[in-house]
Amino acid sequence: MRIVIKVGTSTLTHATGKLNIRRVQELCRVLSDLKNEGHEVILVSSGAIGMGVGKLNLKEKPTDIPTKQAAAAVGQCELMYTYDRLFAEYGHVVAQILLTGADFEAPDRQENFKNTLSKLLELGVLPVVNENDTIATEEIKVGDNDTLSAYVAVRAQANLLILLSDVDGLYDCDPRQNANAKLLERIHGMPEELFSVAGNAGSALGTGGMKTKLFAAKICVEQGTDMVIASGERPQILYDIVVGKAGRYTRFFATADEGNR
Ligand code: GLU
Repeated sequence: MRIVIKVGTSTLTHATGKLNIRRVQELCRVLSDLKNEGHEVILVSSGAIGMGVGKLNLKEKPTDIPTKQAAAAVGQCELMYTYDRLFAEYGHVVAQILLTGADFEAPDRQENFKNTLSKLLELGVLPVVNENDTIATEEIKVGDNDTLSAYVAVRAQANLLILLSDVDGLYDCDPRQNANAKLLERIHGMPEELFSVAGNAGSALGTGGMKTKLFAAKICVEQGTDMVIASGERPQILYDIVVGKAGRYTRFFATADEGNR
């Protein structure tokens, strides 16, 4: 299978903005193992700004654009250094791909992106994608990595996009406000009413919320790619998701027929 995995800042870093070492080590171990099993893995990783905040010892996530972009420039470097080291332990080579929204609009850039991506996969490399935050302005950026990862999954003709987040999946109402909230495990198609159960909130360091995840699901299922929302707290959950074993996560099916998956 060709799988795109998106990991959010809340999974990669502690609330301080410093790297969550145990979590990231575990994530790289599982992804390496999935590659060893024969899957093609593309990682869409947030964390540039969050890790920049940590490395620069800023007290909080900046709100002004130059500081955010400076933090992203510092953090992206740290992020790739970390992935390069950790994946190398398992014999895997990583590549960095930085994109903005404008790159998805321009046909020639899309062509280059697709060609490079398939060459990297053919060479057995693990591409790590992020938004090019340092140059992205409001007008040209995708804005959040949930949407970015859906674009990547569709362009890469992936079988599955998995969004690792700080929530288990989509609930029928807000689990932070309602102890009886029920996790929706299997969703077919993209019923519009789902958008009304999704709140807007993101974490202190990340960008997305449930709404951006649902938009990502819509992009994926409309183009024939399944999508999963799962908690990044235990990266081993990826093993169950990839083999289609039921668990505490939400899967959006692109087709009505589960029998083929
Ligand atoms: N590109 C941003 C970063 O690396 C994150 C965007 C997002 O989390 O949605 O910090």
